[in-house]
Amino acid sequence: MTVHEIRKQFFDFFASKGHQIVPSAPMVVKNDPTLMFTNAGMNQFKDFFLGNAVPKNRRVANSQKCLRVSGKHNDLEEVGVDTYHHTMFEMLGNWSFGDYFKEDAIAWAWELLTEVYKIPKDRLYVTVFEGDEKDGVPRDQESYDIWKKYIAEDRIILASKKDNFWEMGDTGPCGPCTEIHVDNRPEAERAKSDGKQYVNEDHPQVIEIWNNVFMQFNRKADGSLESLPATHVDTGMGLERLAMTLQNKTSNYDIDLFQTLIRHMEKVSGKKYGTDETTDIALRVIADHVRAIAFSIADGQLPSNTGAGYVIRRILRRAVRYGYQTLGLKEPFLSGLSVVLSEVMGDPFTELIKQSELVEKVIREEELSFFRTLEQGIKRIEGLIDSAKVSGSKVLDGSAVFELYDTYGFPFDLTSLIARENNLSVDEDGFNAELTKQKDRSRAATAIETDDWVQLTDDSVEEFVGYDYLETAVEIVKYRKV
Ligand code: ATP
Ligand code: MG
Ligand code: MG
Ligand code: MG
Repeated sequence: MTVHEIRKQFFDFFASKGHQIVPSAPMVVKNDPTLMFTNAGMNQFKDFFLGNAVPKNRRVANSQKCLRVSGKHNDLEEVGVDTYHHTMFEMLGNWSFGDYFKEDAIAWAWELLTEVYKIPKDRLYVTVFEGDEKDGVPRDQESYDIWKKYIAEDRIILASKKDNFWEMGDTGPCGPCTEIHVDNRPEAERAKSDGKQYVNEDHPQVIEIWNNVFMQFNRKADGSLESLPATHVDTGMGLERLAMTLQNKTSNYDIDLFQTLIRHMEKVSGKKYGTDETTDIALRVIADHVRAIAFSIADGQLPSNTGAGYVIRRILRRAVRYGYQTLGLKEPFLSGLSVVLSEVMGDPFTELIKQSELVEKVIREEELSFFRTLEQGIKRIEGLIDSAKVSGSKVLDGSAVFELYDTYGFPFDLTSLIARENNLSVDEDGFNAELTKQKDRSRAATAIETDDWVQLTDDSVEEFVGYDYLETAVEIVKYRKV
């Protein structure tokens, strides 16, 4: 079954249960000062949960374009290194706004996975919220008892607040979650059960696929909880992870959609996927990042030096650097890949087709300019190497290497590599000292977004003050109370 067929079956299933299938909201959020990118399917329905708006239909489902590179959900560091976290991914979701609750949500999730998608029952585990006395939230016994009707009890795992209790922010709607995990380990490995359950342990082949959140409480300003007059269901299932399972793969990147992108990059780079881990990471990062970039531009967010545009520019540069550094590419390649992407995902995401030319052109311009920057950086390194050689030093100065990193976007390891090729080393301590200084400077006036929404009060206007320049910290969006 292709990714497109899997998505369609999800829609057909929930339509048959009375759900209206609604379009994905844009991935770039324009009208909410507390959120830059959609990071979950429920974002666009926030006002229904807060009681600020009344939905036309109390049951809806969709596939939402999500981006998790900032705030509470930041998976950037995982992307490419593991094989199941993306920057941009599709979250399949079904919602009940004050309509059905735990009984139906769990029954349908089970029916869909085991009867429609036919995932063997002995490959599934579920987690249920264990309760937290200190916080005054009870164990979700209801969900536990419902699950007992479908799945053996030793496959129901009690889990803590960290994974199984959802809150919108410091105040507002919240409630327990139940999450479905799938064991994708090879049969032989599953058979010799070691009695361990790998759920929530980041076992690369025992992964979470579907979160069902049951909003039943309201957190008040004093921290106490009250029951909501109307209860809601909010679910999210990673389409790429589901497809990995249904296509009998152990990596999201082996599903049909990503394979098309990776095959293209193999042709462009002359490298082969699956032979060397460093190359594989680069190919995965590029195949992942092109989606984040192309979808953002198609949604109207061009790369720029501020706000959401800067996040996109840095993701783009990250992809180019992997291509440059690991795959040895010296010419634009992402723009070409974006054309392949629009062929692969243009149905159903027609915005990719409609904006195809713009997307390609914008990416190409960005690539060209960044390649020029990289070349200037190379010249600068050559200058540093020459003067080190002239002065008889074996070490490149840490603050000069920091400048390369900060101004030319040269990652530390690329500079070290070039230095090594010239029998030189880099003053790592000096580099780190500069980096720390810079981080301290930027952290001084920083509050990091930690909830799904930052709650704004009337007397706190937030002003954007820039980003951390750490390569890995595209994500640290800084706001300063003024
Ligand atoms: P994980 O623990 O794997 O990081 P999560 O608990 O952060 O996932 P949720 O917020 O519960 O994820 O989102 C619902 C579903 O979306 C997850 O069960 C998973 O299938 C999918 N998902 C979450 N983050 C990603 C990601 N970065 N890339 C691909 N799919 C994801
Ligand atoms: Mg996560
Ligand atoms: Mg999780
Ligand atoms: Mg989860």
